Amino acid sequence: MTDADDALDPALREEALESLLLERGLVDTATIETFIRTYETAVGPMNGAKVVAKAWTDPDYKQRLLVDGTAAIAELGFKGPQGEHMVVLENTPSVHNVVVCTLCSCYPWPVLGLPPSWYKDPAYRSRVVREPRAVLREWGTDLGPDVEVRVHDSSSEVRYLVLPERPAGTESLSEEDLAALVTRDAMVGVTKVAAP
Ligand code: FE
Repeated sequence: MTDADDALDPALREEALESLLLERGLVDTATIETFIRTYETAVGPMNGAKVVAKAWTDPDYKQRLLVDGTAAIAELGFKGPQGEHMVVLENTPSVHNVVVCTLCSCYPWPVLGLPPSWYKDPAYRSRVVREPRAVLREWGTDLGPDVEVRVHDSSSEVRYLVLPERPAGTESLSEEDLAALVTRDAMVGVTKVAAP
């Protein structure tokens, strides 16, 4: 996509695309409505947050998640397009993972929903590879020089989910309360999960 394409009104582009698909009989209105409703209400970062909270509270689940992300995520019922090959990356005090798609906007839909605009922004996609520490600092994520930063480029196949560090002081929280702390941005790896 070029900058000129980006300048077109997204609503106009969407309308044109939808008309074309309908006209050619490739989709019907009901399918489009169902798709939009699904990604507005049923699929989003709340799914990924449940995965993270379970991993924080169930060491066996965490192990399964790190070995086979796709299968462990499916245990919670989350699967579907753009989630067929999930790899989960664990953040620790010494390693910080952050995810990008340098080519386009590949994103793990079943656990995070549709990608935010900043994730699709050419600036994020190029800069996080070139100067990850500077980009993370702009997100308020200041990593010490002793922390290794790993940038993961989503390929045409693999989608990543970052398993953030469980914040200190959350020992007494339930899985549900923990899930409420987990943000989309932390699961992409641009931020950490803050203590309540
Ligand atoms: Fe992509």
